Amino acid sequence: MILRSCLLFLARQKALRRWMETSSLVRPLTARFIAGPTLDDALAVGSRLERDGIMMTLDRLGENVSSLPEAEASCEGYIEALRRLDQLGSNATVSIKLTQFGLDLSADACRANVWRLAEEAARLGRTIEIDMESSEYVDRTLRLVFDLHERFGNVRVAIQAYLRRSGRDVERMCDAGIPVRLCKGAYLEPAAAAFQAKSEVDRNYVHLMKVLLERGAYPALATHDEKIIAEAKRFARDKQIAPDAFEFQMLYGIRRDLERQFAAEGYRLRLYVPYGQAWYPYFMRRLAERPANLLFLLRHLARG
Ligand SMILES: Cc1cc2nc3c(=O)[nH]c(=O)nc-3n(C[C@H](O)[C@H](O)[C@H](O)COP(=O)(O)OP(=O)(O)OC[C@H]3O[C@@H](n4cnc5c(N)ncnc54)[C@H](O)[C@@H]3O)c2cc1C
Repeated sequence: MILRSCLLFLARQKALRRWMETSSLVRPLTARFIAGPTLDDALAVGSRLERDGIMMTLDRLGENVSSLPEAEASCEGYIEALRRLDQLGSNATVSIKLTQFGLDLSADACRANVWRLAEEAARLGRTIEIDMESSEYVDRTLRLVFDLHERFGNVRVAIQAYLRRSGRDVERMCDAGIPVRLCKGAYLEPAAAAFQAKSEVDRNYVHLMKVLLERGAYPALATHDEKIIAEAKRFARDKQIAPDAFEFQMLYGIRRDLERQFAAEGYRLRLYVPYGQAWYPYFMRRLAERPANLLFLLRHLARG
């Protein structure tokens, strides 16, 4: 728990981020979790996955940008990604973070950027997935999601099971018919906002998962937790919910051993595939989720 908090704290340190993202020592180690620095790297991963019956959502890495030109560049990068996916005939979605589109700097500019992307996605018949960041952003994210859903109907939003408020948010999404990606949550949150014990988070996940499977609009269950995945399959079978009425989602590089099994069993699986140069915060969250990942990194650095 302490190690996890330290790593999540370090994930927010800008000077360390600058050093790590330009260090040739660490870069090769990110390859397990990140497709590569360019869109082409991610598209190559996507076409391999699609050959195996696995779908993809593309994440152009970047968050908490510090200038509006950077936010616009993120939007442009995603528009390019949508167009390339369309040319390839891929069924991938794209996943975005609102702080990458300027939410820290100007709510209006962020909204204009996301609107532009959603408009282009709608023109191409594609879905945008909106990641959920730390709890201070939840209300602003959901407000924009409601507007996007009403105007374009092509958006899915991540809801975090560790947040105490998420039961209400899931109900609101079900009532509005907005698709949800349910995840456990990856940020450092105070006890007032989030369950701290893994057992409580897991219990809430299973509860929200069942609500979404019964009432949600094409929910996505984003987890690598084998017990929860087994429970989802059992619940769906018992309630006669068709395997194509929902999808599982996993992060690229975490459970390669399990990935092909889903398609073989007739379930849908989408992998979240990140690419780009701004990998540090994403990478640190993956380390924080599993201390063994940190040991691997330290051993490599010690070898020089
Ligand atoms: C598709 C997808 C999208 C996501 N989007 C968001 C989002 O928008 N906002 C957000 O806050 N979080 C997001 N997350 C991250 C999520 O909140 C969790 O932090 C992460 O998925 C780990 O939780 P878990 O459900 O896998 O369960 P855990 O209980 O953490 O892990 C279960 C098992 O999975 C394996 N595992 C999990 N993580 C790792 C890892 N990093 N390295 C190696 N093995 C691991 C281990 O075997 C572990 O025992 C997303 C996750 C996925 C899969």
